[in-house]
Amino acid sequence: MRITIHRGIDQIGGCITEIATNNAKILIDLGQNLPNGEGVVNDDFANSDAIEKITKDIDAIFYTHYHGDHLGLFHLVPNSITQYIGKVAKRVALCKHQRLSFIKDRKEQSEKEIDRIEAMQSFESQQIFKVGDIKIIPYFVSHSAYDAYMFLIEVNGKRILHTGDFREHGYLGKGLLPTIEKLILKQGKIDFLITEGTMLARLDERVRHENELKGEVVELMKQNKNVFVLCSSTDMERLATFHAANQKMNGRPFVCDDFQESVLEIFSDTAGKKSTLFDFEKPYIFRKDNEKLINWMKDKGFCMLVRATDKFDDYTEFLLPLLEKDKTILIYSMWKEYINPQCKHANKKYLDFIDKFSKVSKIHTSGHASAECLADVCNLVNPKTGIIPIHSENSADYQKLPINEELKDKIITETKKIDDTLIEIKRTTKRQQWV
Ligand SMILES: [Zn+2]
Ligand SMILES: [Zn+2]
Repeated sequence: MRITIHRGIDQIGGCITEIATNNAKILIDLGQNLPNGEGVVNDDFANSDAIEKITKDIDAIFYTHYHGDHLGLFHLVPNSITQYIGKVAKRVALCKHQRLSFIKDRKEQSEKEIDRIEAMQSFESQQIFKVGDIKIIPYFVSHSAYDAYMFLIEVNGKRILHTGDFREHGYLGKGLLPTIEKLILKQGKIDFLITEGTMLARLDERVRHENELKGEVVELMKQNKNVFVLCSSTDMERLATFHAANQKMNGRPFVCDDFQESVLEIFSDTAGKKSTLFDFEKPYIFRKDNEKLINWMKDKGFCMLVRATDKFDDYTEFLLPLLEKDKTILIYSMWKEYINPQCKHANKKYLDFIDKFSKVSKIHTSGHASAECLADVCNLVNPKTGIIPIHSENSADYQKLPINEELKDKIITETKKIDDTLIEIKRTTKRQQWV
């Protein structure tokens, strides 16, 4: 067996892992490098020639979730290769690309992308797949993208657990350790653990439970009648935090645009059927000519989901003069460094957008596992042979994990052969950093 980390060591994003035997080959994720603060993507793989080369002889591609740093290069994959993604994740990805098709001069590109997503096979948790002599089983994980999975991969008696991006401190995170213990380890020991380590470079960042955020949002909503929220439009658990908090404010409409409404509808129709927390009911769609809604918003206050786009520049320019300044707030609910002008990750669009508001509050918790959670997973899985760290700024940070020396010795960050398994770790020249 061969495990190849084409990309993902010492960088966050652009994840590409290959698992191969003599008669089958699969990829886990085919992600794009994350954009810099100006929105520019530097990615040597983001062209058909490079993807044709890397997917040569590949039988199937399995995606852990719909974030661009895991899914981003799907449209360049030749038609002959089957691509697999979670059933709900497929709907969200489709919805997003349908929206992108409205952007001027992007129609043709989007049509191609939509075709490729429509052709994708979808899966549900614990569905078993066989690609030649490789067996793949997805298991649901909580992440800032809904319908995310880790994969158990079995090859010639060896077992690999590829975690993808995950966390324990989300509403849907409590199943993480029981899933590993009761479903995955019950079937036998894991040989290799391939896992993320986003938070290892940010040990000072307090990772709070999503539920704790809800309490803080409620307090802010009590103090401020008019609440704008800048958060990821596909982060279901965070959206649920704001929706649930707003429900506690009697009679305030939950407002968004038509794109966000379509995404919420997918969540209500899937996760919302299992828990009312994710049932977003019928949000109100903002339009400048919807006088009835605007009067209601002015009268009772509101919670409105926004994005840093031209459309919302227009909406906020229209709305802000109608509202009392001291009762109006923007809650910024993404990584703090995007709006830190001193940071290399600073995002100009976000900075310009938050500038419009006299009151801004930051409420966020990471979509990624805390160091303690990573250590718990490493200790529980206790892999026989190796831990391969991906999706971290610096793989050497794994040595800081509170795990025993024996496990630390198993961390693999350079190419090596162990018995009949070749682990090839490729490093790209340009180090890409983010989150
Ligand atoms: Zn990621
Ligand atoms: Zn992600």
